Amino acid sequence: MTTAKRPPVARRSTRQTRFVRPFEGDQDPYLDRRKIAGSAVCPDCGAVHVRGKWSWREKPKRVVEHVCPACQRVRDKVPAAYLTLVDGDFLRVHDAEIMHLIEHVEAHEREEHALKREMGRERTARGLELTFTDAHLARAIAEALHHAYQGEIDLQYTPGDVMLRASWSR
Ligand SMILES: [Zn+2]
Repeated sequence: MTTAKRPPVARRSTRQTRFVRPFEGDQDPYLDRRKIAGSAVCPDCGAVHVRGKWSWREKPKRVVEHVCPACQRVRDKVPAAYLTLVDGDFLRVHDAEIMHLIEHVEAHEREEHALKREMGRERTARGLELTFTDAHLARAIAEALHHAYQGEIDLQYTPGDVMLRASWSR
């Protein structure tokens, strides 16, 4: 009897499996690089790090300052995800309610997960480009738009799922 483990089978990811595969946080260089031993508080946003997790809990008494991964992305101007709302008649007509839905999803996610935030918005040749500190958040918003208004979403992860480029069009 052998106890030797078989080497893991290299899985080729097809477009379809990449589409359904969730973003894995441990592959995010911002999370990897910034492991902190004890408790910390972010000087930029006030998020609190306890036992490996950033949250909006109350600040512990003895705590060091450490910029959280989300604020570090903001400082570096390195989004984890881009979501483009592709220009079109539907977007123009429903602009206000679409923005309301996006803000609702963002606020809800940010409350639950301290590192999920929108970073900025910019007009591009394609439409309105939103940037985020977290790929799950961009995907959640794209899926909420699709759920509410149908249309098409496109999700493209970079190798290693480090970054997401998403778009929604209708
Ligand atoms: Zn922060």
